[in-house]
Amino acid sequence: MSHLCAVPGCARPVGGGRRASRAWSIYCNKHRSHERRHGHAEQRQVNLKELAPYLKITDRRLKVTPEARAWDAADERFRALADAAATDLAAWNRGQPMSGIQRLCAEEIDKLARVAKPREVWRLVAAVILMERREPGRFKSDDAFFVQMARVVRRLRDVNAYEWWDHKARRTRRGYRDPNKRVMVEMGRVLSVSLGMVGTTLARMEDAEEARQDKVKAELVGALGELEAGVKEAA
Ligand SMILES: [Zn+2]
Repeated sequence: MSHLCAVPGCARPVGGGRRASRAWSIYCNKHRSHERRHGHAEQRQVNLKELAPYLKITDRRLKVTPEARAWDAADERFRALADAAATDLAAWNRGQPMSGIQRLCAEEIDKLARVAKPREVWRLVAAVILMERREPGRFKSDDAFFVQMARVVRRLRDVNAYEWWDHKARRTRRGYRDPNKRVMVEMGRVLSVSLGMVGTTLARMEDAEEARQDKVKAELVGALGELEAGVKEAA
């Protein structure tokens, strides 16, 4: 019996590597690999251009209140996360048991901390959170959100790039090797839990500012209406 891919509009048959996995698959090969890479079969990748307005929100706050203690505290939070990852890895090297997912996630955080400044990391985390708040439906599931979070942050380290020989094009290419989906979900989750507060707080501040602007505008409209009505009455 042949089934079609579960993604609406996709007419390809369900696929899968081995017969056993094919029996459980609900997606075609293309959407199955997309799901593994992006956290959901229909999740669109978040690119830096789309994140730009949200990065701007964070940067504006940083510029207006450069002395705020919150920024240093967020830096410190990432350093603590990186230290914990390094400690876990050292313990694992000494033979302490650790789940594969946890270890690979710790490796990701450790590698990230070696090449990126804490501020670069939490700035991106905040931007992804702002995006999630402002664009309902942009993330197809919690997993997709965490995977995209991890992907965005991972781009900070070019050391991920590996070179491979493209036989068809007969040249060396650079690509980014993604860890498996469960590691990416865990990485995104850890980053959101430890650094996400910056994003949620900035989102609240933005909402409050917008509400204030709306109120001032409404007051002006009301006052101008009164002025106009008064002039008409006097005439
Ligand atoms: Zn499909």
